[in-house]
Parts: sequence; C-alpha cells; structure tokens
Amino acid sequence: MTAQSSAGRIDTSRPHPARVYDWLLGGKDNYLVDQEVAEKLPPEARLNAMRNRAFMHRAAAWLAGIGIDQFLDIGTGIPTEPNLHQIVQNIRPSARIAYTDNDPIVLRHAEALLVSSPAGATDYVEADVREPGAILEHARNFLDFDRPVALSMIALMHFVTDDEDPYGLTRTLLEALPSGSYFMFSHGTTDEHPHLVKSVTTTYRKGEIPLRMRTRDEIEPFFEGLELIDPGLVTATKWYKDTPAPREELSGFYVGVARVP
Ligand code: SAH
Repeated sequence: MTAQSSAGRIDTSRPHPARVYDWLLGGKDNYLVDQEVAEKLPPEARLNAMRNRAFMHRAAAWLAGIGIDQFLDIGTGIPTEPNLHQIVQNIRPSARIAYTDNDPIVLRHAEALLVSSPAGATDYVEADVREPGAILEHARNFLDFDRPVALSMIALMHFVTDDEDPYGLTRTLLEALPSGSYFMFSHGTTDEHPHLVKSVTTTYRKGEIPLRMRTRDEIEPFFEGLELIDPGLVTATKWYKDTPAPREELSGFYVGVARVP
C-alpha cells in the first residue's frame, strides 16, 4: 500500500475537473471556483455523472466476476464510496488495484483509496494520462503484467484534446497489456442532448478546463483492435449484463468493455 506524489499543491484559484465532478456527485471536496462551474452546467449533468458512476460499478463487478483481479484505473477522481477497489474486492478479496490521477486533491484523499481488503492491495500515484510511459512503469511494479489487467479509464478522455492524441495514448496503454486483458471505458458525449453541447463545453472552457465531448463515431476508435463485449458501445444507461436495463434513460456518456485479443 503506497501513495506517491510528483507535484503537490491544491490550486483553489481555478476550477478542476475532479472537484467539479465531485460537486455533481454531491460531494464536499470542492471549492467556490468549482461550484461556479458546476452550477452553470445544465441539470442533466448531475444525473449523467451518477449514471456514469453506476456503469463503473456494474462493469467492475462484471470483470471481477469473470476472474479479473488486477485493475489499473486512470483518472480515479475524488473517492466516492464504493470506489473501484471496494466493488472488485467484494467479489475478489485478493484483487490489486493501481489508482492514478493528475489532480493533487485526489492525492490528498488517497488514504481512502488505499484501504484495501487485507488479502488484496491498492496503490495510488499522481500521474498524467498524457504520459503513459510513466504510468506503465509505476504499474508494472505493482501489478503482474504477465497476467490479465483491466485498464479502467472512466470519464477521463474528454479532458484530452485532439492535438494531445487521445487515441494514440490509449493504444500505448493497451498495447502494454497481455492478451486476455480488458478495457473499461466511458467518455462524455452530447449525442443524446444535442442542444447542450455548446453550453457544457463553454462552461468548462470559461473555467479554463478544455473539454472535448465526442460523438459515437469519434469514440469508437478508442476500441480499435479490441473485442467489444456485449452490449457493445452504448450509452451508460444501456450497459447491462445480467439484468435488463431498468428503463429508457438518457445519458451523457458512451461506455464499453472490451477484451484485448
Ligand atoms: N473515474 C472517476 C472520476 C471521473 S472525473 C469516475 O468516473 O467516477 C475525471 C477525473 O480525471 C478527474 O479526477 C480528473 O482529475 C482526472 N483527469 C483529468 N485529466 C487528467 C489527465 N490528463 N491525467 C490524469 N487524470 C486526469
């Protein structure tokens, strides 16, 4: 059980995505600058955040259920119970989960992420998805890359702009994983709320948070070369495995789980 930081200070003069998202989930670990962004978002944003989180729960439980016991989670966010390791270790107590985020506020809460089941282990490192080499180097010391690993990137890549090569970064991470590994992914979209695209993006941009919502066609390439698991690439409220989706609900996220061949 370790936690490491490269940088350090919490900047309360600018809004941060982790803290805006924390506000949307009803958390208390955010500042006035974050609230000012979050409150200007359309009301759908709160529901979308909760529905995204609920997808993460279902996907992690499904992966643990089929035997996956190593997870690399990038863009972890401020801890909100249950966190990924709690879901997974509930099913597989010996599972190991490596968490990373680039926001110093998440490091401050890392202790909550590090309360592992006694049989398993958790780890936290402050790192940026735009430097996949550093993330992989750290993860290799904690996870066994000769066995399947689930790479989890939930509500992260819409913060990576086109010129930062979001597809290439994702491929670099996936190519490091052995065959039989998995990818659990969600990405912001306004496909089901087309009238909101401008207001959401402008609100984040005003807070100097670059946001790149993507369409389904633009999200599909993140899964290139992978075997998508049923029900495929769908919106968060339609991704169900063993139970039917409760009812028709809109979502601001496309999600998918795929296997590395
Ligand atoms: N995965 C969690 C939190 C999503 S909020 C969930 O779905 O519930 C998005 C998170 O991504 C924030 O915590 C933010 O700090 C982090 N993030 C944004 N850009 C990042 C980057 N370039 N590298 C690593 N983390 C990043």
